Parts: sequence; C-alpha cells; structure tokens
Amino acid sequence: MVEVQLAGRGIRDRRVLDAMAEVPRERFVESGFEEFAYEDCALPIANAQTISQPYIVALMSEADELKPADKVLEVGTGSGYAAAVASRLAGTVHTVERHGHLARIAAKRLAALGYDNCIVHTGDGTRGLPQEAPFDAILVAAGGPTVPDVLKAQLAVGGRLVMPVGDLEGEQSLLRVTRLSETQYAEETFGAVRFVPLIGQHGWAEDGTRSASNHVPGRTRFRSLPEMIGAAIEPLPDFEDPTFGRFLDRFAQSRVVLLGEATHGTSEFYQARAAITRHLIEKHGFKIVAVEADWPDAAAVDRYVRQRTSRGTRERPFERFPTWMWRNKDVAAFVEWMRKHNDAKTASERAGFYGLDIYNLRSSIAAVLAYLNEVDPDAAAVARERYGCLTPWQREPSTYGRAVLTEGYRKCEAEILRQCQDILKKELDYAANDPDSFLDAAQNARLITAAERYYRIMYYGGAESWNLRDTHMFETLGHILDAQGPRSKAVVWAHNSHIGVNRLANLTPHRRPILTPLCGGVCW
Ligand code: SAM
Repeated sequence: MVEVQLAGRGIRDRRVLDAMAEVPRERFVESGFEEFAYEDCALPIANAQTISQPYIVALMSEADELKPADKVLEVGTGSGYAAAVASRLAGTVHTVERHGHLARIAAKRLAALGYDNCIVHTGDGTRGLPQEAPFDAILVAAGGPTVPDVLKAQLAVGGRLVMPVGDLEGEQSLLRVTRLSETQYAEETFGAVRFVPLIGQHGWAEDGTRSASNHVPGRTRFRSLPEMIGAAIEPLPDFEDPTFGRFLDRFAQSRVVLLGEATHGTSEFYQARAAITRHLIEKHGFKIVAVEADWPDAAAVDRYVRQRTSRGTRERPFERFPTWMWRNKDVAAFVEWMRKHNDAKTASERAGFYGLDIYNLRSSIAAVLAYLNEVDPDAAAVARERYGCLTPWQREPSTYGRAVLTEGYRKCEAEILRQCQDILKKELDYAANDPDSFLDAAQNARLITAAERYYRIMYYGGAESWNLRDTHMFETLGHILDAQGPRSKAVVWAHNSHIGVNRLANLTPHRRPILTPLCGGVCW
C-alpha cells in the first residue's frame, strides 16, 4: 500500500508514509472487510459512511503539514483511521463525529491501540470545538458546500485547514486554507475528490439541501438517489409505438451499443432489450449480437440463426446457465426472430450471435478438436495431446489452480499457448474456404488459453482474474468486429460490471469494466 498506492502516486512526506505504514488499517474496517483493508479504495462502514481510501488519508495528512507538536481538529471521525494516522504525526488530535455509534466504536479502537493522544467527540463538527481552539491544523473528512467561517476562525495564525468543497452530485475540490493573519487566508486546491456529505449547521442539511446558515444562491442543492435517477432516465416508448424507433435512432452511427443491466434482468427487461436490438439490426445495419455467455454455447445458437452447418458436438448449449440468464423463452423468441430475419438475406448480410465469456473450457476443447479433425487431422492429434494436460480439470476447472502448484501441471500453460499460436499461424490455409468456422475455432483456442490462466489465478483470488475475464471479453469483441470488417457494428448484452462506466461503478480501481472504451463515447 505504502509503496504502490502512496509513494507511487506522489506522497513524498516520509513521516506521512511511516505513519500510514504504522497504523493497522485492518483494525478500522468493518468485520468481514479485513481482507480488503489495503485495497486502493474507500470501504463501507456503519451508518452508510465510509473509511476513506488510503491515498486520500495520506494526501490530506501531507497537505495539512502536520507537525509533532500540533494540535489538530478532525471533523468526521468515521472509523477513526484518519485520526489514528494524524495522531502519529501530531501532538494531540480532537476528532468529531456526528453519529454517536461511529464515535463510540472509533474511541474504542483508538484506545485499544494505545493512541491516547486522540480524543473523540460526538457532535456537529461544522461548528468546530471552540473550547479547544485554536488549532494548528484542521482536517475535514466530508464534503461541504463551502469552508465554514467558524472553522477558519478556529485556526491559529499559520494554521492549515484541508477540506473537500463542492456540489454533492459531482466531485469536490480538495482545498487547503492557510490562515496568514487575523483576517487573511490563502487558498490552494489539490485536485478532485469524492466524499460523503458534511451534514450540519454549516454544511448540508440532512435532506440534502443547504443549511440555512450556509446558503449560496445559484449552487445546485444535493439531490437524493431516486431524484438523480428520475432526472437521468428516459421512459422507453411502447414497442409498437412509432416513437420507439425514433428513440433509438440516435445510436444509428455508433459502432458498438452496450446494453447493460444490473441483475441479469426480468422478462420485461429481456423483451425490451430484444426489441431494441431488433430495431438496431433491422434499421441500422447492426450484424453482431455479442452477449455475456460462453463462446461455444453462443456459437451453437449462431449456427442456428445464420443457418450454418453444425459441427455436431453432443453438448446442448447453455446447459450450465440458469433459466434467468440465457435458457428462457424470451431469448428463444429472439433467436427465432434472428433466424427468420436472416432467412431472406445472403450469408454475408446475416446477423450473428456471439459469446464473449470464458467459462466453457470443456466445450471449447471439444470444438477445437472437432474443427482440426475435419481440416487437419495431424494437427488434431497434436492438439489432443496438448489439451490432455487439462483433461482431468475440465469438469471442475476451478480446482485447477491447486493442481498447478505441482510440477506435473506447470507445463500446461506453455502447451496450450503453443496450440493457440499454431492455429492462428495457419489462418491462411484454414480460413480460405470457411472463414466463419476458422473464427469459431480460433476463438475457442483463445478461450482455452485465457481460461487456463483464469482458473490458475482465480485459485489465488483477487482482482486479476476479474480483469483477465474482462480483457478476454474486450478482445473477443475486437476479433468479431475485425472479422466482419471496418463497418461492422455490434450490440453487446452484458452485466453493468463489465460494461458500466468505471468512474460510476462501485468497484475497486483494480476491477475495471473495460468494454466501455470501444463504444467511442456513445454508450447506453
Ligand atoms: N476519517 C474517516 C475515516 O478515516 O474513517 C472517514 C470519514 S467519512 C469519509 C466522513 C465522516 O464524516 C462520516 O463518518 C460522517 O458521519 C461524518 N460527518 C459528516 N458530517 C459531519 C459533521 N457535521 N460533524 C461530524 N461528522 C460528520
């Protein structure tokens, strides 16, 4: 944490880095969150509040230039973590929390660690602590509309106050106010941050409006989540309504339209998504439907809708999926519509159905072998040998990571990679007569390579396996678009955690939905 997240991002003050190394952050997170304590993000605590991201705590501590003899006021104790860090850097820390529950827990934690120069108060910190003033430094750990004058007045001359200021719906600016004299203050900014609201007499009111004492005309008031959703959504017209099409025409020029969802959806959602996709295919030339499903399963559907010959694997597609994902009537109706739509079209005009995901290792191996048996039986024998390494794990690939710890399985990775490279090198020979089948085999070979790695690193947990899966999905979409030429256009159906805007998703920065960059800013 100290080297990568703090020093690596420009925190230079050695004392701050040492304090961050000294304070055991896992003692300040909620029970069950210990394993995430050193992740590069804020974490939830009780009363719908957060323990700030380590970098922000370090940045604020550095900006406030805390010195060993300083008397410090912190507003927003939360978990007590930032106060603990400040207590390692300064003489005395008074920290104020408006939620009594949080204040009590923080006080206990600080006492248990022996940080007895830290005093926790319960109350409205926007008023400061006049009885303890003046302070050499003030840290405000929640975002307010302006810097309260009462707090500025409680700074000693030469004292610093660091606080996020701005409208609540967006980002705030991290400000440092330095008291130069009895009447003069200097102000600097330290970039954009995003904090929970400072609620109190000189901050926001509980309902999100400004407190009367602090009203600045012209500034927007804080809106609740339902209000923000209400302002952002556009009702979808009825499918039969002529305005339904017009509503979607704004996406006509997009190369990729991302149709996200949060829960994998209800029947109504599946029907709406199908209707949107039908319109984009019929009216705007989209020919790729790429979904969060495994390649070999989707390939079976693709063969059906584009009326290509089947390779005849014995597996029924989508067997391992629950009905609320792909094995349901709404998807079946859409698949039938695609087949019918394609009926009157030439092969190159037909719309296809593709899977972006990584999981069906077993069917992908079977598909590559079936393809090679047909086009190059000698190569099939070599592939069978190479994939044999994974055979014991095909049914339970999630246990593969443990097996790799033993010498015998370490060689799987190299063999599988070589197999993928061999198929890709033969593109000119293999793809000449049937480019669709080549793309199918190449994608399955890529999937096996990615899945081998995925299951290996999944065993250790963490964000890397998530990113590998998303990278694979992104690259698969890229390969499908490339295979169909520069004017090809795709509709993607996937969970928001894969296609949402990372800035707005509640994910750690390591876990990035990465399909978004492809859509050139016209996402939905
Ligand atoms: N410094 C904290 C830590 O290390 O865990 C994180 C603080 S959290 C981002 C902001 C905290 O400010 C919340 O616990 C919230 O209840 C508190 N808060 C908001 N308005 C406040 C006010 N007027 N007085 C005191 N605390 C307030």
